Amino acid sequence: MEMRDLICKYESKSLTLPTLPVGYIQVKSSVEEWTSDSSQHSQQNVLLPFAAESKCHSVPIKSSRLLTTSSNQNVKPVYELLFDVEQIKEFLFNPGDTIGILPINSDDEVTIVLEAASLSELSQLKIAIELAAGSKKKLPNHLPQETSIRKCLLECLDLHAIPKKLFLRSLIEHLVDDEERRVLAILCSKEGATDYSERILTAGVGFFDILQMFKSWNQIPFQLLLEHLPRLLPRPYSIANSPLQNQNILKIWFSLAEPPGVTTKMLHDMIKRANSGVTTMVPIYLRQSNAFSYTLNEMTDPVIFVAAGVGVSPFLGFLEHREQVQKSDKEVRLANATMFYGCRQESESLCKDIFRHHLQAGSLSDLKEAFSRDVNSQHKYVQDQIQSNANMFAEVLIRGKGRIYVCGSANMVQDVRKSIQNCLAEHLDDSTTSDTIESIQKLIRDKRYVEDTWI
Ligand code: NAP
Repeated sequence: MEMRDLICKYESKSLTLPTLPVGYIQVKSSVEEWTSDSSQHSQQNVLLPFAAESKCHSVPIKSSRLLTTSSNQNVKPVYELLFDVEQIKEFLFNPGDTIGILPINSDDEVTIVLEAASLSELSQLKIAIELAAGSKKKLPNHLPQETSIRKCLLECLDLHAIPKKLFLRSLIEHLVDDEERRVLAILCSKEGATDYSERILTAGVGFFDILQMFKSWNQIPFQLLLEHLPRLLPRPYSIANSPLQNQNILKIWFSLAEPPGVTTKMLHDMIKRANSGVTTMVPIYLRQSNAFSYTLNEMTDPVIFVAAGVGVSPFLGFLEHREQVQKSDKEVRLANATMFYGCRQESESLCKDIFRHHLQAGSLSDLKEAFSRDVNSQHKYVQDQIQSNANMFAEVLIRGKGRIYVCGSANMVQDVRKSIQNCLAEHLDDSTTSDTIESIQKLIRDKRYVEDTWI
């Protein structure tokens, strides 16, 4: 953010600032160090969000592997992680289910926050978090009553949350430099609403970025962070294996974006620790099943799976489940399953061997691939393969009673839907666009078109 620009733009303009919020939390620091069990995540026993099915348990990493081999910048590293859940009897999962992982902020980032806020010296001491005298508010559930500042910053607060204007207003009081104070004042003022919206909201500038952008911080009280930073929320991951193959293991795949998110960074660090021989525990919980499920009841109908990148995760579980059902119950006749899979480069296709195995085993009937960054690839995105196989979609969805599952990013899921809509339009005589949209809506209502959208 160019601070000078902003100052010039608002030169000699008077600003209307929101009223400084009254604090409602008080933090009492003791002289003792915080010595409680550090392996227990602070939020382990707090009410879990996102449709928790089980309690949160710390489970050991059983093994991990890097699935990508190239250091080519076109290829995002993807990891497979196996959790040992043998001891957790309540983790009864089905293919398509997801887990929540409780994240931990990076140690380095927490150290930066502590230094900027001049809290480093107090950071390991035992503190009590209480409501300020006379306050009628409630303490948020995710704040422990006793902890240390460091542990609370590591496990409870979202350091990258986009600050609301009232938080910016409060932070002005803890800056010394006049220009920096003016910039924050502009951003939280009535007159600066458009700049707040463009430079903070749309640009995705979080509290941690603000902390680094400004240099003249002078003692940010910890209670201010407790009052304004939201809860560090669990992150969901698809389970990528079938309980029929091994119910004592939970497998996930994740890709490491640049810069990595809080949880993927944590998992990446944990993998390094586990690989050096240290037993490494990850706090996870099982989430309730949703419509994205695939069990014996659905296996006798023809099915199409569509995925891009690690969006293939739930389908790995589906395919394993088909294989195990086929092996264990000779009476069941599995209907055809076709996989549409897109990734960046054929040479780095994560699932090459897995798909080959399932094609040979008969758990997969056909495979249609797309490679977005191979210049000679005939099909760039899965949508191109869908268009080339339009007839198959009409066969499964209109003439047959099959189903389709799509998993990937929001854009991918939306674009795939449009392209399937086009395929159906070609096969529905005299249909208008609204007819095909309605056909898809009906398929969705009937759970024959199921989407799993990831951010
Ligand atoms: P990625 O490598 O960035 O992309 C995978 C492929 O999808 C690339 O070939 C990419 O092409 C292509 N693509 C991009 N936009 C597309 C669009 N609009 N339509 C069709 N294809 C498109 O993806 P990733 O990091 O593996 O992740 C894929 C998604 O899966 C993420 O949103 C992730 O959150 C989600 N997911 C994660 C899990 C999990 O448990 N970790 C589970 C399910 C889904 P380009 O070369 O153009 O980028």
